[in-house]
Amino acid sequence: MNFIGEAKKIKDFIVNYRRIVHQYPEISGREFRTSEFVAETLKEIGVDEVYEGFGRTIGVVGIIKGKGDKTVALRADMDALPVKEETGKSYASKVEGVMHACGHDAHVAMVLGAAKLLVNIKNQLKGNVKLIFQPCEERQDCRGAKRLIDAGVLKNPDVNVIFGIHVNPELETGKVATCTGPVLASSDVFSVKIFGKGTHASKPHKGIDTVLIASQVVNTLHHIVSRRVDPLDPVVLTIGTIKGGEAENIIPEVVELKGTVRTLNEKIRKEIPIWIEEALKGITTAYGGKYEFNYQEGTPPLINDEKTALFTIEEIVKLLGRENFVYLKKPSMGGEDFAEYLKFVPGVYLRLGTGNREKGTTFPLHSPKFDIDEDALPVGTAVLSYLAFRWLEKNG
Ligand SMILES: [Zn+2]
Ligand SMILES: [Zn+2]
Repeated sequence: MNFIGEAKKIKDFIVNYRRIVHQYPEISGREFRTSEFVAETLKEIGVDEVYEGFGRTIGVVGIIKGKGDKTVALRADMDALPVKEETGKSYASKVEGVMHACGHDAHVAMVLGAAKLLVNIKNQLKGNVKLIFQPCEERQDCRGAKRLIDAGVLKNPDVNVIFGIHVNPELETGKVATCTGPVLASSDVFSVKIFGKGTHASKPHKGIDTVLIASQVVNTLHHIVSRRVDPLDPVVLTIGTIKGGEAENIIPEVVELKGTVRTLNEKIRKEIPIWIEEALKGITTAYGGKYEFNYQEGTPPLINDEKTALFTIEEIVKLLGRENFVYLKKPSMGGEDFAEYLKFVPGVYLRLGTGNREKGTTFPLHSPKFDIDEDALPVGTAVLSYLAFRWLEKNG
């Protein structure tokens, strides 16, 4: 089958799916209308099994049953962002203050498109295709991927390999990029409370100055990256908030700091909170203060499986031509919970170019002016369905 040709034939369907989802965006954890639309569309397309509200989540899972035991999963995230859309397009968000500014509407549409193509060639599939529509990618606290995994999304039938795709306005329309190894960083958060002794600003010796301790803490935590981590291992440690004090003439009792840690390396990721705590202990003890430290692991680093990535690159070059494949030379320090699936099954995360200067689709992700070049949609659909088909052909 000519996957590109077939995907182009159903372009109107894919664009329509995208625009329906785009007009009614829902923030993380509230994707009720979207999941209902997805489930109905999967049934309409003729997908063999459709599970709405999968394992008591808002996720939807569809299964196309081919001939064979192996299973390929395709994943789309469904959530939007609390952003007020400013594209002025006819299909702009109809929900005040909520917008698909990260292109997850396109991900839903492309996986639905892939389902439509794959159902038509079901008798040629050497195994099953599981379509995973996941809520809650954008917010760390609701952990969409992890909840679906806990609910058994990678089991019954057991998933052997998984593919995910994300639109990218920095990449020209129709180009597809990926690489072997790390693609995105882990994303953890931490908070620190420093307790001292409040007093009059003119008598610092009567108190314990939490502001001074906090300033030492900020300094020292940044030295973790520059002095304890191998310079060839990228780590970002950023303190985003610092709060304490009410007046210029009072030394406050408490100062609170919040920050994030990003890394591509699981081993370093485990060491960072230990190093932070060592610094906190040393500094607060030196000044006679106390601390409270809370470190929360978010998504792990996203690491493409070597073998699957090599297969993917070879197949994409066959499908789109060498000129349309871009090898990602550098990972990004952003995070993505697709990494949770890759902890359990091999897989690959792809980027799809949707940037077109003339059409005004080069605004960054999460911008109120973000939009995609819809000509990229059939390309994404073709890539996903072709990879599923070819992987089963080779491994099923
Ligand atoms: Zn996003
Ligand atoms: Zn996104």
